[in-house]
Amino acid sequence: ERRQLNRLRREPSRTRDGIDIKLWANAESRDDVSEAHALGAAGVGLYRTEFLFLGSNVLPDEDAQFRAYRDAVLAMTGRTVTIRTLDLGADKADKTGLALRDEPNPALGLRGVRLSLARPELLRAQLRAIGRASGYGPIRILVPMVTAAEELQAVRSALHAALAELRAEGLEVAAHIPLGAMIEVPSAALALRSFIGGCDFISVGTNDLVQYLLAADRTNESLGELYSPLHPAVLRVLHDVIRTGLRRRIPVTVCGEIAADPTFVPLLLALGLTELSLHPATLLEVRQTIRNSMHAQLRAAAPSLLRARNRASILRWLNTHSQP
Ligand code: PEP
Ligand code: MG
Repeated sequence: ERRQLNRLRREPSRTRDGIDIKLWANAESRDDVSEAHALGAAGVGLYRTEFLFLGSNVLPDEDAQFRAYRDAVLAMTGRTVTIRTLDLGADKADKTGLALRDEPNPALGLRGVRLSLARPELLRAQLRAIGRASGYGPIRILVPMVTAAEELQAVRSALHAALAELRAEGLEVAAHIPLGAMIEVPSAALALRSFIGGCDFISVGTNDLVQYLLAADRTNESLGELYSPLHPAVLRVLHDVIRTGLRRRIPVTVCGEIAADPTFVPLLLALGLTELSLHPATLLEVRQTIRNSMHAQLRAAAPSLLRARNRASILRWLNTHSQP
């Protein structure tokens, strides 16, 4: 079984009827990046920079971050690396003291882009490090926890300022670094039309999106099935986000755990998704499922999926459309 999967390392992620699906890798360590390259990932779709900050009790400075980002870019040999700006908050074990402690409701607190904008010197160091690494290969920047257009605009101005500084210092930086928003807060998903124009790409973080849509803590195991993407509201929002992206010709990736489970591949393809980002651990299984899928059939089955009224009928739909 494993041997058979390993043969897929060099095969395209293409459906039986010839539609190419872009399979990016999520990376939260240096090893994940090498693994992504070895598995033939299209690039790194989500580089979680938190691991550089969580491992120790000293903040990585601009140079330390630059080296990590440059190494990831070099390891991917010309395939794009999507670096997410810091997504720390009181919800993540943080020894650096950077994030506030004891927030009454950390999931709704000063985390993600909010923390970056509250600490401009931190954001500046991160953007400078990314800008310097962009001289070594293709890079994109992804901003977490965006709730409104203004936040992305603020990051874009900070990025322009950082790149201008680097150029003035005589450093080589990419002419253009695409900037994208994570769509993981309901307001961002629902108001997407109002700010997708300011995005070069978007990436749907279903882990948080599900948490916030269903008011179900993603870390609370006592909630059981309540925390699940198999809810009509989640499917509707996902469908709407993907459709808005397609219409505006803005690339849409899904990078939450839903993309890492081969069971959900038919659902994501039915909703029109053509790019997924997932941890290397299941990348080949997902590629295999894609290769067994008939894209046109799944697209035609989207209306019946969106009509499902409850978890049981979504599960029935998945059963009917599951791939061998
Ligand atoms: C998500 O929220 O779906 C996501 C990919 O980001 P994280 O799991 O790091 O919050
Ligand atoms: Mg998230």
